[in-house]
Amino acid sequence: MKKIVIVGGGYSGFYTALGLEKKLSRNDGAEVILIDPRPYMTYQPFLPEVVAGSIEARHALVSLRKNLPRTRVISGSVIEISHAKKSVVVLPYAGNDYVLNYDVVVVTAGAVTRLYPVAGLKEGAIGLKHVEEAIAIRNRMLASFDRAAGLPFGADRKRLLTAVVVGGGFTGIEGFGELFSLAVSLLRYYPELKLEDLDFRLVQAANRLMPEVSEEIAARVRKSFERRGARVHLNTQVVSVVDGHVVLSTGEQFDAHIIVWAAGNGANPVVARHTDLPIDSRGFLVVRPDLQVGTEDRVINDAWGAGDDASVPDLSGGSRTARTVPNAQNAVRQGRLLATNIVASLHGKPTKPYLHRNLGTIATLGKGRGAFQSGRIGFTGFLAWLIHRAYHLYAIPTWERKARVFAGWCVSFLSGRDIVSIEDAHHPRAAFLRGGSPEHQMTLLCDERATTSVVDPA
Ligand SMILES: Cc1cc2nc3c(=O)[nH]c(=O)nc-3n(C[C@H](O)[C@H](O)[C@H](O)COP(=O)(O)OP(=O)(O)OC[C@H]3O[C@@H](n4cnc5c(N)ncnc54)[C@H](O)[C@@H]3O)c2cc1C
Repeated sequence: MKKIVIVGGGYSGFYTALGLEKKLSRNDGAEVILIDPRPYMTYQPFLPEVVAGSIEARHALVSLRKNLPRTRVISGSVIEISHAKKSVVVLPYAGNDYVLNYDVVVVTAGAVTRLYPVAGLKEGAIGLKHVEEAIAIRNRMLASFDRAAGLPFGADRKRLLTAVVVGGGFTGIEGFGELFSLAVSLLRYYPELKLEDLDFRLVQAANRLMPEVSEEIAARVRKSFERRGARVHLNTQVVSVVDGHVVLSTGEQFDAHIIVWAAGNGANPVVARHTDLPIDSRGFLVVRPDLQVGTEDRVINDAWGAGDDASVPDLSGGSRTARTVPNAQNAVRQGRLLATNIVASLHGKPTKPYLHRNLGTIATLGKGRGAFQSGRIGFTGFLAWLIHRAYHLYAIPTWERKARVFAGWCVSFLSGRDIVSIEDAHHPRAAFLRGGSPEHQMTLLCDERATTSVVDPA
Protein backbone atom coordinates (compact mmCIF):
# COMPACT_ATOMS: atom_id res chain seq x y z
CA MET A 1 0.00 0.00 0.00
CA LYS A 2 1.31 3.49 -0.87
CA LYS A 3 0.63 5.87 1.98
CA ILE A 4 -0.53 9.36 1.00
CA VAL A 5 -0.42 11.56 4.10
CA ILE A 6 -2.33 14.86 4.07
CA VAL A 7 -1.26 17.36 6.73
CA GLY A 8 -4.28 19.54 7.53
CA GLY A 9 -7.95 18.99 6.69
CA GLY A 10 -9.09 22.53 5.93
CA TYR A 11 -10.23 23.67 2.50
CA SER A 12 -7.30 22.35 0.48
CA GLY A 13 -6.76 19.19 2.55
CA PHE A 14 -10.45 18.28 2.62
CA TYR A 15 -10.86 18.69 -1.15
CA THR A 16 -7.64 16.78 -1.82
CA ALA A 17 -8.88 13.84 0.26
CA LEU A 18 -12.33 14.01 -1.33
CA GLY A 19 -10.78 14.06 -4.81
CA LEU A 20 -8.43 11.16 -4.01
CA GLU A 21 -11.36 9.09 -2.71
CA LYS A 22 -13.08 9.60 -6.06
CA LYS A 23 -10.08 9.21 -8.35
CA LEU A 24 -8.06 6.42 -6.76
CA SER A 25 -9.14 2.92 -7.71
CA ARG A 26 -8.49 -0.25 -5.72
CA ASN A 27 -5.79 -1.16 -8.27
CA ASP A 28 -3.83 1.92 -7.26
CA GLY A 29 -3.19 0.28 -3.91
CA ALA A 30 -3.04 3.59 -2.05
CA GLU A 31 -4.16 4.54 1.44
CA VAL A 32 -5.11 8.15 2.16
CA ILE A 33 -4.39 9.40 5.68
CA LEU A 34 -5.51 12.85 6.79
CA ILE A 35 -4.10 14.37 9.97
CA ASP A 36 -5.72 17.37 11.66
CA PRO A 37 -6.14 18.36 15.32
CA ARG A 38 -9.76 19.28 14.54
CA PRO A 39 -12.27 16.63 13.50
CA TYR A 40 -13.84 19.05 11.03
CA MET A 41 -13.11 21.37 8.15
CA THR A 42 -14.03 24.94 9.05
CA TYR A 43 -15.94 26.97 6.49
CA GLN A 44 -14.15 30.18 7.55
CA PRO A 45 -16.19 32.65 5.45
CA PHE A 46 -19.15 31.79 7.72
CA LEU A 47 -17.34 32.64 10.98
CA PRO A 48 -18.47 36.30 10.96
CA GLU A 49 -22.07 35.08 10.69
CA VAL A 50 -21.44 32.65 13.55
CA VAL A 51 -20.38 35.69 15.60
CA ALA A 52 -23.60 37.42 14.62
CA GLY A 53 -25.77 34.41 15.40
CA SER A 54 -27.06 34.14 11.82
CA ILE A 55 -25.46 30.70 11.51
CA GLU A 56 -25.32 28.04 14.19
CA ALA A 57 -21.64 27.35 14.94
CA ARG A 58 -21.74 23.63 14.13
CA HIS A 59 -23.27 24.34 10.72
CA ALA A 60 -20.12 26.17 9.63
CA LEU A 61 -18.15 22.95 10.15
CA VAL A 62 -17.94 19.85 7.97
CA SER A 63 -17.15 16.55 9.66
CA LEU A 64 -14.05 14.88 8.23
CA ARG A 65 -14.92 11.35 9.30
CA LYS A 66 -18.50 11.52 8.05
CA ASN A 67 -17.63 12.94 4.64
CA LEU A 68 -14.38 11.11 3.96
CA PRO A 69 -15.38 7.48 4.56
CA ARG A 70 -12.42 6.00 2.65
CA THR A 71 -9.80 8.19 4.29
CA ARG A 72 -8.06 7.31 7.55
CA VAL A 73 -8.52 10.37 9.75
CA ILE A 74 -6.02 10.89 12.55
CA SER A 75 -6.94 13.41 15.25
CA GLY A 76 -3.67 15.09 16.05
CA SER A 77 -1.12 17.67 14.96
CA VAL A 78 1.88 17.09 12.78
CA ILE A 79 4.82 18.60 14.63
CA GLU A 80 7.56 17.74 12.15
CA ILE A 81 7.83 16.79 8.49
CA SER A 82 11.07 15.12 7.43
CA HIS A 83 11.00 14.50 3.72
CA ALA A 84 14.52 13.10 3.79
CA LYS A 85 13.18 10.26 5.99
CA LYS A 86 9.72 10.40 4.37
CA SER A 87 8.07 10.67 7.75
CA VAL A 88 5.96 12.99 9.87
CA VAL A 89 5.86 13.18 13.65
CA VAL A 90 2.27 13.11 14.90
CA LEU A 91 1.19 14.50 18.26
CA PRO A 92 -2.12 12.70 18.85
CA TYR A 93 -5.02 13.84 21.03
CA ALA A 94 -4.02 11.27 23.59
CA GLY A 95 -0.74 9.47 24.15
CA ASN A 96 2.80 10.21 23.05
CA ASP A 97 3.93 11.54 19.72
CA TYR A 98 4.95 8.97 17.11
CA VAL A 99 6.55 8.71 13.69
CA LEU A 100 4.38 7.94 10.67
CA ASN A 101 6.08 7.01 7.41
CA TYR A 102 4.65 8.00 4.05
CA ASP A 103 5.24 7.59 0.36
CA VAL A 104 3.62 10.88 -0.63
CA VAL A 105 3.05 13.93 1.58
CA VAL A 106 0.54 16.71 0.95
CA VAL A 107 1.05 19.84 3.06
CA THR A 108 -2.19 21.80 3.45
CA ALA A 109 -1.91 23.06 7.04
CA GLY A 110 -3.12 26.61 6.30
CA ALA A 111 -1.82 29.77 7.90
CA VAL A 112 -2.13 31.23 11.39
CA THR A 113 -3.25 34.66 12.56
CA ARG A 114 -0.24 36.95 12.26
CA LEU A 115 0.78 38.42 15.59
CA TYR A 116 2.91 41.49 16.24
CA PRO A 117 4.94 42.41 19.29
CA VAL A 118 2.13 44.47 20.83
CA ALA A 119 2.09 44.58 24.62
CA GLY A 120 -0.86 42.65 26.10
CA LEU A 121 -1.88 41.14 22.75
CA LYS A 122 -1.52 37.47 23.68
CA GLU A 123 -3.22 37.96 27.05
CA GLY A 124 -6.19 40.05 25.98
CA ALA A 125 -6.98 39.71 22.28
CA ILE A 126 -8.58 36.97 20.19
CA GLY A 127 -8.39 35.96 16.52
CA LEU A 128 -11.19 35.08 14.11
CA LYS A 129 -9.92 32.03 12.28
CA HIS A 130 -11.49 29.23 14.28
CA VAL A 131 -15.04 28.48 15.28
CA GLU A 132 -14.16 28.50 18.98
CA GLU A 133 -13.00 32.10 18.61
CA ALA A 134 -16.22 33.09 16.84
CA ILE A 135 -18.30 31.49 19.62
CA ALA A 136 -16.25 33.17 22.36
CA ILE A 137 -16.55 36.61 20.74
CA ARG A 138 -20.30 36.21 20.37
CA ASN A 139 -20.87 35.03 23.92
CA ARG A 140 -18.68 37.74 25.35
CA MET A 141 -20.53 40.41 23.41
CA LEU A 142 -23.96 39.18 24.47
CA ALA A 143 -22.89 38.81 28.10
CA SER A 144 -21.38 42.30 28.09
CA PHE A 145 -24.77 43.74 27.11
CA ASP A 146 -26.42 41.92 30.02
CA ARG A 147 -23.86 43.31 32.42
CA ALA A 148 -23.78 46.84 31.01
CA ALA A 149 -27.56 47.09 31.20
CA GLY A 150 -27.36 46.72 34.98
CA LEU A 151 -24.68 49.37 35.50
CA PRO A 152 -24.98 53.14 35.85
CA PHE A 153 -23.18 55.44 33.39
CA GLY A 154 -19.46 55.30 33.97
CA ALA A 155 -16.17 53.78 32.94
CA ASP A 156 -17.18 50.15 33.59
CA ARG A 157 -20.28 50.37 31.48
CA LYS A 158 -18.45 52.20 28.71
CA ARG A 159 -15.73 49.55 28.60
CA LEU A 160 -18.28 46.75 28.32
CA LEU A 161 -19.80 48.41 25.27
CA THR A 162 -16.48 49.08 23.54
CA ALA A 163 -15.06 46.70 20.95
CA VAL A 164 -12.14 47.03 18.60
CA VAL A 165 -11.28 44.96 15.54
CA VAL A 166 -7.72 45.27 14.26
CA GLY A 167 -7.19 44.68 10.54
CA GLY A 168 -9.02 46.06 7.53
CA GLY A 169 -8.71 43.02 5.25
CA PHE A 170 -11.37 40.40 4.59
CA THR A 171 -11.48 38.89 8.06
CA GLY A 172 -11.41 42.24 9.86
CA ILE A 173 -14.09 43.85 7.70
CA GLU A 174 -16.47 40.92 7.85
CA GLY A 175 -15.90 40.29 11.54
CA PHE A 176 -16.35 43.95 12.38
CA GLY A 177 -19.42 44.33 10.18
CA GLU A 178 -21.22 41.36 11.70
CA LEU A 179 -20.20 42.16 15.28
CA PHE A 180 -21.39 45.74 14.97
CA SER A 181 -24.58 44.69 13.23
CA LEU A 182 -25.28 42.26 16.11
CA ALA A 183 -24.64 44.99 18.70
CA VAL A 184 -26.99 47.44 17.02
CA SER A 185 -29.71 44.83 16.67
CA LEU A 186 -29.42 43.96 20.38
CA LEU A 187 -30.33 47.50 21.43
CA ARG A 188 -34.06 46.93 20.93
CA TYR A 189 -33.96 44.29 23.67
CA TYR A 190 -32.03 46.55 26.06
CA PRO A 191 -34.00 49.74 26.69
CA GLU A 192 -31.30 50.76 29.20
CA LEU A 193 -28.76 51.11 26.36
CA LYS A 194 -28.61 53.53 23.42
CA LEU A 195 -26.73 53.58 20.11
CA GLU A 196 -24.59 56.46 21.45
CA ASP A 197 -23.39 54.15 24.26
CA LEU A 198 -21.71 51.80 21.76
CA ASP A 199 -18.09 52.43 20.84
CA PHE A 200 -17.07 50.14 17.96
CA ARG A 201 -13.77 50.78 16.22
CA LEU A 202 -11.99 49.29 13.25
CA VAL A 203 -8.25 49.93 13.16
CA GLN A 204 -6.31 49.60 9.91
CA ALA A 205 -2.59 50.28 9.45
CA ALA A 206 -2.90 51.12 5.72
CA ASN A 207 -4.57 54.19 4.29
CA ARG A 208 -7.58 52.23 3.01
CA LEU A 209 -9.68 49.17 3.78
CA MET A 210 -9.88 45.93 1.80
CA PRO A 211 -6.94 45.78 -0.60
CA GLU A 212 -8.95 43.20 -2.60
CA VAL A 213 -11.46 45.79 -3.93
CA SER A 214 -11.21 49.13 -5.76
CA GLU A 215 -10.59 52.32 -3.81
CA GLU A 216 -14.12 53.45 -4.53
CA ILE A 217 -15.69 50.34 -3.01
CA ALA A 218 -13.27 50.47 -0.08
CA ALA A 219 -14.33 54.08 0.59
CA ARG A 220 -17.99 53.04 0.48
CA VAL A 221 -17.34 50.23 2.94
CA ARG A 222 -15.78 52.72 5.32
CA LYS A 223 -18.69 55.14 4.91
CA SER A 224 -21.18 52.35 5.49
CA PHE A 225 -19.60 51.67 8.91
CA GLU A 226 -19.31 55.34 9.85
CA ARG A 227 -22.88 56.15 8.82
CA ARG A 228 -24.09 53.48 11.21
CA GLY A 229 -22.11 54.97 14.11
CA ALA A 230 -18.84 53.01 14.10
CA ARG A 231 -15.38 54.56 13.95
CA VAL A 232 -12.76 53.62 11.36
CA HIS A 233 -9.12 54.52 12.07
CA LEU A 234 -6.97 54.43 8.93
CA ASN A 235 -3.17 54.88 8.93
CA THR A 236 -3.28 53.74 12.54
CA GLN A 237 -1.60 50.96 14.46
CA VAL A 238 -2.39 49.45 17.80
CA VAL A 239 0.56 50.06 20.09
CA SER A 240 -0.57 48.32 23.26
CA VAL A 241 -3.61 46.49 24.67
CA VAL A 242 -2.46 45.73 28.22
CA ASP A 243 -5.44 44.78 30.43
CA GLY A 244 -7.83 45.83 27.68
CA HIS A 245 -6.47 49.39 27.64
CA VAL A 246 -5.96 50.12 23.95
CA VAL A 247 -3.33 52.65 22.89
CA LEU A 248 -3.28 53.72 19.24
CA SER A 249 -0.33 55.13 17.31
CA THR A 250 -2.27 58.40 17.05
CA GLY A 251 -2.04 58.72 20.83
CA GLU A 252 -5.73 57.97 21.39
CA GLN A 253 -6.45 55.61 24.31
CA PHE A 254 -9.56 53.78 25.48
CA ASP A 255 -10.64 50.65 27.37
CA ALA A 256 -12.19 47.83 25.34
CA HIS A 257 -13.97 44.67 26.42
CA ILE A 258 -13.50 42.89 23.09
CA ILE A 259 -10.29 43.08 21.07
CA VAL A 260 -10.35 41.04 17.87
CA TRP A 261 -7.01 40.67 16.12
CA ALA A 262 -7.37 40.10 12.36
CA ALA A 263 -4.17 41.64 11.06
CA GLY A 264 -3.37 39.09 8.37
CA ASN A 265 -1.94 35.61 7.85
CA GLY A 266 1.32 34.37 9.33
CA ALA A 267 3.24 31.27 8.25
CA ASN A 268 2.19 27.97 9.81
CA PRO A 269 4.97 27.18 12.37
CA VAL A 270 5.32 23.55 11.25
CA VAL A 271 5.95 24.62 7.67
CA ALA A 272 8.11 27.58 8.63
CA ARG A 273 10.31 25.88 11.23
CA HIS A 274 9.84 22.10 11.42
CA THR A 275 10.38 20.72 7.95
CA ASP A 276 13.21 20.16 5.50
CA LEU A 277 10.92 21.04 2.58
CA PRO A 278 11.85 24.32 0.85
CA ILE A 279 10.21 27.49 2.18
CA ASP A 280 10.36 31.12 1.08
CA SER A 281 11.61 34.06 3.14
CA ARG A 282 8.16 34.42 4.81
CA GLY A 283 8.04 30.76 5.86
CA PHE A 284 5.61 29.55 3.17
CA LEU A 285 6.06 26.29 1.27
CA VAL A 286 7.56 26.77 -2.19
CA VAL A 287 5.56 24.91 -4.82
CA ARG A 288 5.65 24.71 -8.61
CA PRO A 289 2.71 25.59 -10.87
CA ASP A 290 1.45 21.98 -10.69
CA LEU A 291 1.54 22.22 -6.84
CA GLN A 292 4.44 19.85 -6.50
CA VAL A 293 6.93 21.12 -3.93
CA GLY A 294 10.04 22.69 -5.49
CA THR A 295 11.26 25.46 -7.71
CA GLU A 296 11.58 25.79 -11.47
CA ASP A 297 15.00 24.11 -11.33
CA ARG A 298 14.47 21.59 -8.57
CA VAL A 299 11.53 19.20 -8.12
CA ILE A 300 10.98 17.53 -4.76
CA ASN A 301 9.38 14.24 -5.65
CA ASP A 302 6.40 12.92 -3.66
CA ALA A 303 5.78 16.22 -1.87
CA TRP A 304 2.84 18.48 -2.68
CA GLY A 305 1.35 21.58 -1.14
CA ALA A 306 -1.40 24.17 -1.58
CA GLY A 307 -3.63 26.68 0.14
CA ASP A 308 -2.73 29.38 2.64
CA ASP A 309 0.50 27.68 3.78
CA ALA A 310 2.00 27.66 0.28
CA SER A 311 3.52 30.14 -2.12
CA VAL A 312 1.78 29.13 -5.35
CA PRO A 313 2.76 30.69 -8.72
CA ASP A 314 -0.11 32.72 -10.15
CA LEU A 315 -0.15 32.06 -13.89
CA SER A 316 -3.27 34.12 -14.57
CA GLY A 317 -1.51 37.47 -15.06
CA GLY A 318 1.60 36.41 -16.95
CA SER A 319 4.03 37.54 -14.22
CA ARG A 320 6.73 35.07 -13.13
CA THR A 321 6.85 36.40 -9.58
CA ALA A 322 3.10 36.70 -8.87
CA ARG A 323 1.65 34.35 -6.23
CA THR A 324 -1.98 33.31 -5.76
CA VAL A 325 -3.99 35.16 -3.11
CA PRO A 326 -4.57 33.15 0.08
CA ASN A 327 -8.32 32.70 -0.13
CA ALA A 328 -10.94 29.99 -0.28
CA GLN A 329 -11.43 30.37 -4.01
CA ASN A 330 -7.84 29.26 -4.56
CA ALA A 331 -7.61 26.78 -1.69
CA VAL A 332 -10.61 24.74 -2.95
CA ARG A 333 -9.47 24.66 -6.55
CA GLN A 334 -5.90 23.88 -5.58
CA GLY A 335 -7.16 21.03 -3.38
CA ARG A 336 -9.08 19.54 -6.30
CA LEU A 337 -6.08 19.90 -8.63
CA LEU A 338 -3.81 18.29 -6.04
CA ALA A 339 -5.94 15.14 -6.16
CA THR A 340 -5.88 15.10 -9.97
CA ASN A 341 -2.13 15.66 -10.18
CA ILE A 342 -1.22 13.17 -7.44
CA VAL A 343 -3.21 10.44 -9.21
CA ALA A 344 -1.67 11.44 -12.56
CA SER A 345 1.83 11.22 -11.12
CA LEU A 346 1.08 7.80 -9.56
CA HIS A 347 0.01 6.65 -13.02
CA GLY A 348 3.11 8.17 -14.64
CA LYS A 349 1.00 10.70 -16.56
CA PRO A 350 1.71 14.45 -16.97
CA THR A 351 0.40 16.88 -14.34
CA LYS A 352 -1.52 20.11 -14.95
CA PRO A 353 -0.55 23.60 -13.82
CA TYR A 354 -2.82 25.60 -11.51
CA LEU A 355 -4.54 28.39 -13.40
CA HIS A 356 -7.47 30.31 -11.98
CA ARG A 357 -8.67 33.80 -12.77
CA ASN A 358 -10.05 35.58 -9.74
CA LEU A 359 -13.87 35.48 -9.79
CA GLY A 360 -14.11 38.61 -7.66
CA THR A 361 -14.69 39.51 -4.06
CA ILE A 362 -17.78 39.41 -1.92
CA ALA A 363 -17.97 40.36 1.73
CA THR A 364 -20.66 40.79 4.33
CA LEU A 365 -20.66 44.12 6.15
CA GLY A 366 -23.39 43.05 8.58
CA LYS A 367 -26.92 41.76 8.11
CA GLY A 368 -28.43 43.14 4.89
CA ARG A 369 -25.24 44.91 3.76
CA GLY A 370 -22.40 43.65 1.61
CA ALA A 371 -19.66 44.61 -0.81
CA PHE A 372 -19.10 43.07 -4.24
CA GLN A 373 -16.33 43.51 -6.78
CA SER A 374 -15.68 41.53 -9.93
CA GLY A 375 -13.38 43.15 -12.47
CA ARG A 376 -14.60 46.71 -12.94
CA ILE A 377 -18.06 46.01 -11.57
CA GLY A 378 -18.39 46.84 -7.93
CA PHE A 379 -21.18 47.85 -5.58
CA THR A 380 -22.19 47.77 -1.95
CA GLY A 381 -25.58 47.23 -0.30
CA PHE A 382 -28.33 44.65 -0.05
CA LEU A 383 -27.77 43.00 -3.44
CA ALA A 384 -24.08 42.47 -2.63
CA TRP A 385 -25.09 40.86 0.67
CA LEU A 386 -27.57 38.55 -1.13
CA ILE A 387 -24.86 37.52 -3.59
CA HIS A 388 -22.55 36.87 -0.62
CA ARG A 389 -25.08 34.53 0.97
CA ALA A 390 -26.01 32.80 -2.29
CA TYR A 391 -22.37 32.20 -3.20
CA HIS A 392 -21.37 30.78 0.16
CA LEU A 393 -24.46 28.60 0.33
CA TYR A 394 -23.40 27.18 -3.01
CA ALA A 395 -19.77 26.85 -1.91
CA ILE A 396 -20.07 25.20 1.53
CA PRO A 397 -19.43 21.47 1.06
CA THR A 398 -22.20 18.89 1.37
CA TRP A 399 -25.94 19.20 0.80
CA GLU A 400 -26.59 18.54 4.44
CA ARG A 401 -24.61 21.62 5.54
CA LYS A 402 -26.23 23.74 2.82
CA ALA A 403 -29.67 22.67 4.04
CA ARG A 404 -28.89 23.39 7.69
CA VAL A 405 -27.45 26.83 6.96
CA PHE A 406 -30.34 27.75 4.68
CA ALA A 407 -32.93 26.52 7.18
CA GLY A 408 -31.24 28.63 9.88
CA TRP A 409 -31.41 31.73 7.70
CA CYS A 410 -35.11 31.10 7.01
CA VAL A 411 -35.88 30.77 10.73
CA SER A 412 -33.88 33.96 11.46
CA PHE A 413 -35.76 35.77 8.71
CA LEU A 414 -39.07 34.88 10.34
CA SER A 415 -38.14 35.19 14.01
CA GLY A 416 -35.09 37.48 14.13
CA ARG A 417 -31.60 36.76 15.38
CA ASP A 418 -30.89 34.33 18.13
CA ILE A 419 -29.63 36.53 20.99
CA VAL A 420 -29.16 33.95 23.70
CA SER A 421 -25.78 34.15 25.40
CA ILE A 422 -24.20 31.01 26.77
CA GLU A 423 -21.00 32.53 28.06
CA ASP A 424 -21.20 30.10 30.97
CA ALA A 425 -20.37 27.37 28.47
CA HIS A 426 -16.79 28.62 28.96
CA HIS A 427 -17.14 27.89 32.70
CA PRO A 428 -19.12 24.65 32.59
CA ARG A 429 -18.40 23.78 36.22
CA ALA A 430 -19.54 27.13 37.61
CA ALA A 431 -23.12 26.00 38.36
CA PHE A 432 -21.86 22.81 40.00
CA LEU A 433 -19.36 24.72 42.14
CA ARG A 434 -21.77 27.50 43.11
CA GLY A 435 -24.02 25.28 45.16
CA GLY A 436 -24.54 27.82 47.99
CA SER A 437 -26.52 31.02 48.41
CA PRO A 438 -27.63 33.18 45.47
CA GLU A 439 -25.10 35.86 46.56
CA HIS A 440 -22.35 33.29 46.51
CA GLN A 441 -23.44 32.18 43.06
CA MET A 442 -23.31 35.68 41.61
CA THR A 443 -19.97 36.48 43.23
CA LEU A 444 -18.41 33.33 41.88
CA LEU A 445 -19.72 33.93 38.39
CA CYS A 446 -18.66 37.57 38.31
CA ASP A 447 -15.25 36.77 39.75
CA GLU A 448 -14.68 34.17 37.09
CA ARG A 449 -15.70 36.53 34.32
CA ALA A 450 -13.66 39.38 35.69
CA THR A 451 -10.50 37.36 36.00
CA THR A 452 -10.64 35.40 32.78
CA SER A 453 -9.83 36.89 29.43
CA VAL A 454 -11.61 36.13 26.21
CA VAL A 455 -8.56 34.19 25.04
CA ASP A 456 -8.54 31.55 27.69
CA PRO A 457 -11.81 31.62 29.54
CA ALA A 458 -11.46 28.14 31.04
C1 LIG B 1 -13.19 35.08 8.95
C2 LIG B 1 -12.71 34.65 7.59
C3 LIG B 1 -13.48 34.92 6.45
C4 LIG B 1 -13.03 34.53 5.20
N1 LIG B 1 -13.83 34.82 4.11
C5 LIG B 1 -13.41 34.42 2.89
C6 LIG B 1 -14.23 34.68 1.76
O1 LIG B 1 -15.32 35.24 1.87
N2 LIG B 1 -13.78 34.24 0.54
C7 LIG B 1 -12.58 33.60 0.40
O2 LIG B 1 -12.22 33.23 -0.73
N3 LIG B 1 -11.79 33.34 1.45
C8 LIG B 1 -12.17 33.73 2.70
N4 LIG B 1 -11.37 33.47 3.78
C9 LIG B 1 -10.07 32.79 3.58
C10 LIG B 1 -10.22 31.28 3.47
O3 LIG B 1 -11.07 30.78 4.47
C11 LIG B 1 -8.83 30.63 3.55
O4 LIG B 1 -8.06 31.17 2.51
C12 LIG B 1 -8.90 29.12 3.42
O5 LIG B 1 -9.52 28.59 4.56
C13 LIG B 1 -7.51 28.50 3.28
O6 LIG B 1 -7.62 27.10 3.18
P1 LIG B 1 -6.43 26.13 3.65
O7 LIG B 1 -6.87 24.74 3.37
O8 LIG B 1 -5.15 26.58 3.07
O9 LIG B 1 -6.30 26.37 5.22
P2 LIG B 1 -7.39 26.15 6.35
O10 LIG B 1 -8.76 26.15 5.80
O11 LIG B 1 -7.06 27.17 7.39
O12 LIG B 1 -7.08 24.69 6.90
C14 LIG B 1 -5.87 24.34 7.50
C15 LIG B 1 -6.10 23.08 8.31
O13 LIG B 1 -4.85 22.58 8.75
C16 LIG B 1 -4.95 22.18 10.08
N5 LIG B 1 -3.61 22.26 10.67
C17 LIG B 1 -2.91 23.35 11.02
N6 LIG B 1 -1.71 23.01 11.52
C18 LIG B 1 -1.67 21.66 11.48
C19 LIG B 1 -0.69 20.71 11.88
N7 LIG B 1 0.47 21.08 12.41
N8 LIG B 1 -0.98 19.39 11.74
C20 LIG B 1 -2.15 19.00 11.19
N9 LIG B 1 -3.10 19.85 10.81
C21 LIG B 1 -2.87 21.17 10.94
C22 LIG B 1 -5.95 23.15 10.70
O14 LIG B 1 -6.54 22.60 11.87
C23 LIG B 1 -6.94 23.31 9.57
O15 LIG B 1 -7.97 22.38 9.64
C24 LIG B 1 -11.79 33.86 5.05
C25 LIG B 1 -11.02 33.56 6.20
C26 LIG B 1 -11.48 33.95 7.45
C27 LIG B 1 -10.64 33.63 8.66
